[in-house]
Amino acid sequence: MEKKIIVTGGCGFIGSALIRHIITRTQHKILNLDKLTYAGNTDSLLSVKDNLRYSFKKADICDHKNIKKIILKFKPDIIIHLAAETHVDRSIDNSKKFIESNILGTYLLLEESKNYWLSLKGKKKKFFRFHHVTTDEVFGDLDKKLSTFSENSPYKPSSPYSASKASSDHLVRAWHRTYNLPTLITNCSNNYGPYQFPEKLIPLVIMNAIKGRKIPIYGNGKQDRDWLYVEDHAKALLHVALNGKVGESYNIGGQSELKNIQVVKIICKILDEIKPSNFKNFKKYEQLISYVEDRPGHDKKYSINISKIKKELKWKPEETFISGIKKTINWYIDNIKWCNKVKSGNYKGERLGKIKP
Ligand code: NAD
Repeated sequence: MEKKIIVTGGCGFIGSALIRHIITRTQHKILNLDKLTYAGNTDSLLSVKDNLRYSFKKADICDHKNIKKIILKFKPDIIIHLAAETHVDRSIDNSKKFIESNILGTYLLLEESKNYWLSLKGKKKKFFRFHHVTTDEVFGDLDKKLSTFSENSPYKPSSPYSASKASSDHLVRAWHRTYNLPTLITNCSNNYGPYQFPEKLIPLVIMNAIKGRKIPIYGNGKQDRDWLYVEDHAKALLHVALNGKVGESYNIGGQSELKNIQVVKIICKILDEIKPSNFKNFKKYEQLISYVEDRPGHDKKYSINISKIKKELKWKPEETFISGIKKTINWYIDNIKWCNKVKSGNYKGERLGKIKP
């Protein structure tokens, strides 16, 4: 049956992929609620903006009176909560907005969702879901004695970003346990794909390479990460929102574990094939790689175990890293204008700027 879904943070990287997926592949109705920070961009939704099942409200999740009005008017069956400050480097430089949007914002949204849910009756009440989207970074650096993170791994976040997300996860869990709010939580590994803000590793590498600029790598580049193509994540999110078991959390990942330096070298090799350098100062894109001072508190390894979602909800990623990264590189080559337009005017990515001579 068609659902009415509020997506918070729908103008961001993952939220916009989720909305494009829902509008083009299903009959559900979407209300996108986004503050439009530097990371939010309505151009990411141009392909669906005129669809009658899509609507957008510029709103801050911390403005709970406005959020209350919007929820009561739209009467959602599901709220999928993605709105957050998300860039670890920015959280190290200034954590205030992370505490406000990620912790206070989630608290206020939970409260308004709970009040709304309590006012519902019958089937509408029974089938309401609050789905909180979070990260594997809440588990912190993988303990050498463990091979992967399960849904029951202890939380030990390392950065202000992951600590703020961990706090929000605890709030969601508590609102389920204490008030019975029908919640779902998904912890996902690193995403990549079209429309990602070009301050994050993969778009930054692609954009710097095609502009002939140095490609910065933190520390020795041997940090292990799992990579998931964003459209696979979008499919997983809708599937969990509709079919997940209330009160449960599910790990989501791409089953593509690579060291950061391997990711960068793969991108360079693909670019050598599809867009050979016509710059005078280098022939192979790998020559642009430049190691920079490591990020403080940088986690060495994340590794996510997705057997629960595979077994219980029959979801698995469709893209391999190579198939997904090829699509992503081609998208950035074709959409340089989008990247130049969204680049922030006031943040210069100070940390990755420190390229060693
Ligand atoms: P993003 O930074 O691209 O987008 C975040 C969106 O939230 C933006 O559109 C922004 O305008 C909006 N927003 C921020 N604060 C807001 C507020 N107070 N009120 C309303 N809107 C606000 O982020 P993303 O990469 O799409 O991540 C989405 C969610 O998924 C986040 O919760 C993040 O923690 C989680 N996540 C991301 C990844 C990843 O690799 N990108 C991996 C796992 C989980």
